[in-house]
Amino acid sequence: MEIVTLPGQAAGGKVWLVGAGPGDVDLLTVKAYRVLQSADVVLYDALVSEDIMALIPNKAEKIAVGKRAGKHSAAQSEINQLLVTKAYTRKNVVRLKGGDPFIFGRGGEELQTIVEAGLSFEVIPGITAASGTAAYTGIPLTHRDYAQGVSFITGHCQLESRPMDWQGYANPNNTLVVYMGILNANIIKAGLLGAGRSADTPVAIVSKATTHEQRTFVGTLDNIEQLAADPELVMPALMVIGEVVELADSLNWFKPQGLPSSDLSLNKKIK
Ligand code: SAH
Repeated sequence: MEIVTLPGQAAGGKVWLVGAGPGDVDLLTVKAYRVLQSADVVLYDALVSEDIMALIPNKAEKIAVGKRAGKHSAAQSEINQLLVTKAYTRKNVVRLKGGDPFIFGRGGEELQTIVEAGLSFEVIPGITAASGTAAYTGIPLTHRDYAQGVSFITGHCQLESRPMDWQGYANPNNTLVVYMGILNANIIKAGLLGAGRSADTPVAIVSKATTHEQRTFVGTLDNIEQLAADPELVMPALMVIGEVVELADSLNWFKPQGLPSSDLSLNKKIK
């Protein structure tokens, strides 16, 4: 879609592409908080938590443009056009995204449109779901004894234009974090097993990480489909695959509400 700008007229505003973090309001950066306080308009995703939305001043116009798998929401081209239009007519435009805007957030695509329209902008990073999940479940993503590296991948699998590098992801010394993978657990399992990763590899699926509804489902690559199909699993959810998952037994500390304290954040384990 062609982006419509106003020829001969300078844009009056500026766009801040802001990461809202994974959910816990206290994980918002001070800079993001400060920029939100002076926002005239906030275009936000479905992933942004209610607690963070509550921080936006009443005077700011709030526009939901979020995407959720399976649910209709504004097309990317409409979001891009809206951003440009708002920046021509308003002063401080905040594009608020869950987690970090440059990790599976299409932040890059939106910025390209903003650049093409000749608008000024800033980017404020956020805590990505992988970091939030790791901290709030006690799963260090790297550890000298277990994992020398970590990869963040999309589980959209065949929906992406490029093929998945299963061979690369099957390295046992590497932790794999899969965003948007729950509906494709079968493909992820087949891809990793086919590339030689052990069926015993520990897996954690964590839903609503860093919030008081956080739930952790622990098993192995062998039963990852069972974990992903658990009726108690609420979206959004993230998969962490690798030996480091076992450390959660001793390192988890976060107590979501509604769980007995003895359970901490681990509420289901399938072996
Ligand atoms: N930009 C975001 C990711 C957007 S993609 C970030 O940096 O975190 C959306 C995916 O992120 C979801 O499908 C889920 O896999 C993951 N996700 C986001 N927030 C989450 C949360 N609080 N708990 C678990 N997974 C989360």
